[in-house]
Amino acid sequence: MKSLQSIIFLIRLLIFYHTTITPILTTSTSTSNSDFSPTAAVPQCIDYSDPLDFGKHIIKPCPNKARLKGSNTNFQNDLSSGNSSNMFVLQFTCGETNTTLCKKAKSAFEAAGKIITAAFIFKAPIVIDANFLDLNDPRLLGAASPTRLMPIVSEDSVPRMYPQALVKQFQYSVHPDYSPTDILAKFNSGADFWFQGDGPIGPQQSNFHTVILHELFHGLGFSSSYRDYFDLLLGQPSEGITAFPMLDSNSTNPTFNDPLKFSGFIETIFDKFIMILPDKSDPSGTKPLPISYFTNQLNQFGPLNTIFPNINVLTSQIMGSPQWKSVAQYLIKKATVANTFVFVPRGGTLANATYLETNLKVYSSGSSISHVSLAKYTNTNDFLMRYSLESGVTIEDLIIKGGNYSGGAIGPRLRAIMNSIG
Ligand SMILES: [Zn+2]
Repeated sequence: MKSLQSIIFLIRLLIFYHTTITPILTTSTSTSNSDFSPTAAVPQCIDYSDPLDFGKHIIKPCPNKARLKGSNTNFQNDLSSGNSSNMFVLQFTCGETNTTLCKKAKSAFEAAGKIITAAFIFKAPIVIDANFLDLNDPRLLGAASPTRLMPIVSEDSVPRMYPQALVKQFQYSVHPDYSPTDILAKFNSGADFWFQGDGPIGPQQSNFHTVILHELFHGLGFSSSYRDYFDLLLGQPSEGITAFPMLDSNSTNPTFNDPLKFSGFIETIFDKFIMILPDKSDPSGTKPLPISYFTNQLNQFGPLNTIFPNINVLTSQIMGSPQWKSVAQYLIKKATVANTFVFVPRGGTLANATYLETNLKVYSSGSSISHVSLAKYTNTNDFLMRYSLESGVTIEDLIIKGGNYSGGAIGPRLRAIMNSIG
């Protein structure tokens, strides 16, 4: 068992390889297109390699680069870099021998790109590395994630991780080095998908169009950093959730016994808008608090940049800290109580907040928090970002059930959320 655990640990340590908080740019909607001076520090980005496995990512330096003159402009005349009806550039790989199926999947990606392009203002094209292949498990549908997250200082002076697809829209003259693609998507050709033009959808069939549209929004940044990272490090439930822990092993080949520098917890831009509401287990008079308040509390652990002799010492000290109890354990409990996490859009109040998914009675990494409430938004015009989508219904059926919203599948809450983060 020990050797297996060692292997698991090594894989997981690689996840956190070489991480530091290095905020380098500033953003707000009002200052887009402005120029910002990079700091001397080299920003550290998070690169994902498999959207189906959140654990597979590495931290790597992404030195600041000057924006290429003329890049991301004149796109209307250049189909290879997006156009006004579809700002999503598809790098489509089909692992299927059935070319008809490949064509249907590719068309669905293109249709999703057009739907999103029509709903938002894009200044730069977004490149999707789209893969359609047999994942050897018919239960898996597929997933999408940002290819790269990069640290940017939000207008409240807090550094947060932004998906590259959003950073490109800010059109900085200097920016962290971009990965060649913006969104990584992998969908299962072995799943029982229904495609447009297939005739009536079967009761067990999943509607490919809805799934793709949903996943592309995750790739565009509809995702909280709050997760059970320490479960990954420990290989067992930690009973706590945190923002992304920044651990730097300072080694290209980290082992169990390497010293680790802990340089804090970092949120995603989505987290900036999350408020935690009191529930009946909280003392009376408990006020709604931004999740950033809790991230700030977590960052009292340390001091920051403390070097720990090894991962076991680090995890036991973090999990024995007062911050673990008051934040990580408190928030995982709240994440299983209905109507406790809300997204308050930019300029909005609690009155127009959107409830996030906290109805799952056991916290579920990937389903909890980073979706809208299934209970609240089923049969509404904001059905799309629920963690579970019905089989046997087409996207048109869902739009009709949701009240035939004029904006189609992208509901008003989803629009407000995406306009807040980008
Ligand atoms: Zn999802």
